[in-house]
Amino acid sequence: MRIGTYASHSALQILKGAKDEGFKTVAFGRERVKPLYTKYFPVADEFLVGEYPERELLERGVIVIPTGSFVAHLGIERVESMKVPYYGNKAVLRWESDRSLERKWLQKANLKVPRVYEDPDDIDKPVIVKFHGAKGGKGYFLAKDSRDFWRKAGINSKEDLKDVQIQEYILGVPVYPHYFYSKLNGELELMSVDRRYESNVDAIGRIPAKEQLELSLSTNYTVIGNIPLVLRESLLMDVIEAGEQIVKAAEGLMGGIWGPFCLEGVFTEELEFVVFEISARIVAGTNPFVNGSPYTWLRYDFPMSTGRRIAREIKQAIEEDRLDDILT
Ligand code: AMP
Ligand code: AMP
Repeated sequence: MRIGTYASHSALQILKGAKDEGFKTVAFGRERVKPLYTKYFPVADEFLVGEYPERELLERGVIVIPTGSFVAHLGIERVESMKVPYYGNKAVLRWESDRSLERKWLQKANLKVPRVYEDPDDIDKPVIVKFHGAKGGKGYFLAKDSRDFWRKAGINSKEDLKDVQIQEYILGVPVYPHYFYSKLNGELELMSVDRRYESNVDAIGRIPAKEQLELSLSTNYTVIGNIPLVLRESLLMDVIEAGEQIVKAAEGLMGGIWGPFCLEGVFTEELEFVVFEISARIVAGTNPFVNGSPYTWLRYDFPMSTGRRIAREIKQAIEEDRLDDILT
């Protein structure tokens, strides 16, 4: 049994973690990045060129660990029909890729979510406008009322609205807690927390307001990197309960979520955690914690990344002869 993943996103961490747990590792992807995984950071025992070299992966007995890049490059349909064993529940893919299903899941888990405006003419406070399938927040825009919305949206009729979701803009600081739910042990773990470093929103504050206006800047959320975060301790129980509720809701909706996942939201000044998205797999925000986080250090007395935690779960499943429980 080997552990493999697509060479981008959080592959360095996943493959390093797998090696730490004694697995042979395989990376696959674009030829150009091969040295990254074999020479500069020697975490892959083997590198296969190709988007998803199915035959070679099957021959080598590889278990694929999905990442945001893998799913984005392959598309959900191909992921659903892939023959190589996949760690996690494929049924969650539909739920998180469709904004209305995702919202249903978050609401079933009793999490606080931003108000969604079905009719732009109802907009009565600042909103963030998201296009379906937009990657990394590209093309999102803010609008202060319905007139502002129509001016910026670039669409003229309400029929074109199926591609957009208009959410109440929540003023607060972004917080992204990362969880791991062990299906084998029936236990949720808080792995780490990050915030994103996004261009250009994190750049705009460096320009004085008057010049921002003169330059008529608009905001974008293209992820450039991730910054580790430690939460105020009295907020930890809120974040943990949110994770537990997501796991519980998933059992009823799509047969469960297991392995790593992340909630994306903001904490407001009223100390309320408002969630606008769930990522149902490892997120790249776990990358600052290749050597473990303050939270994993409290539980494990050795460095535990999310990537390593995945490999440990797979190792345990092999030992207990329960691989079928965690692969789909
Ligand atoms: P990439 O392979 O870097 O093109 O990323 C594929 C997808 O994962 C894109 O939708 C990115 O927005 C997302 N992604 C990649 N790296 C990060 C990161 N460090 N933090 C958050 N999201 C990321
Ligand atoms: P997303 O693609 O949904 O992860 O959003 C990209 C970025 O937009 C996030 O990192 C947040 O900074 C911001 N964002 C998304 N939704 C909201 C919201 N409802 N209120 C405030 N900020 C948001």
